[in-house]
Amino acid sequence: METVSGKIALVTGGGRGIGRSLALAFAARGNPVVVTGRTQSRLDQVAAEVDRLGGKALPLRCDVTRRPEVEALKNVIESKLGTVQILINNAGMAPAAAFLEMEDCLWEEVFKVNLTGTYYCCKVFLPAMIASGWGRVINIASTVAKVAYSHISAYVASKHAVLGLTRALAVEMGRTGVTVNAICPGYVETELTLNNAKMMAEKTGRSLEQILGLFKRTSPQNRLIDPKEVAELALMLASESASGITGQAINVDGGAVMV
Ligand code: NAD
Repeated sequence: METVSGKIALVTGGGRGIGRSLALAFAARGNPVVVTGRTQSRLDQVAAEVDRLGGKALPLRCDVTRRPEVEALKNVIESKLGTVQILINNAGMAPAAAFLEMEDCLWEEVFKVNLTGTYYCCKVFLPAMIASGWGRVINIASTVAKVAYSHISAYVASKHAVLGLTRALAVEMGRTGVTVNAICPGYVETELTLNNAKMMAEKTGRSLEQILGLFKRTSPQNRLIDPKEVAELALMLASESASGITGQAINVDGGAVMV
């Protein structure tokens, strides 16, 4: 992979889980990384880890569901670092609920974070990327952008929409030097997965180990995905040699979903 070190990467929801791994991976590659999310202390921790690796990170608070905060974020980054050329829309939530019991506010919140947050970041950061003639938008979707599972209808619908936005933007950005792709992880070993497993264990009376075993068995490899594996694919998509890959949705799921 030809390196793209030096270009500024922005990771939303970067304080933990996949976002943290993305931030560490890009920083290790030599990219200044802006780590954003809602909890400053977590962002500071990730920035300190980057620091220890000898990389450069700017931890900045931003709720992606609030457009003025996203715009303010862009202004601060431009004054302190420069133009973001690698945008990784990672912030997300995946609460479980039976469709008929789901509150409207849960549906709205999931769409606000997973879809509208991605939309705001694309709207705000794409113009400068296009002006620079080079850019990478990487949306962390999910295998549920392609298939459905029970009791997570808002999550499934929002991630299908993220994939639709990815494809539509890839077409529209075709001649700009900006590629737009989605990564579709299966079950990844993060707090999100652990919290969902705990909730399922409580509801069904099974043990946490049994639920995690169920998650693992959805993959032919019978394991959870390491967040670092998602970050490795993001590095590949951000590389120079991936300039012909756009509008794609690539699974990192141990073969759980083959579409
Ligand atoms: P996580 O819950 O550990 O991390 C999600 C991060 O997004 C958190 O830091 C959270 O605070 C942040 N976030 C939520 N709402 C936000 C908002 N309004 N503004 C800014 N940040 C916000 O989860 P994760 O497993 O690391 O998931 C990261 C992404 O990967 C999500 O988009 C998720 O849907 C996707 N994903 C996860 C899995 C999995 O199994 N864990 C599988 C497929 C896809």
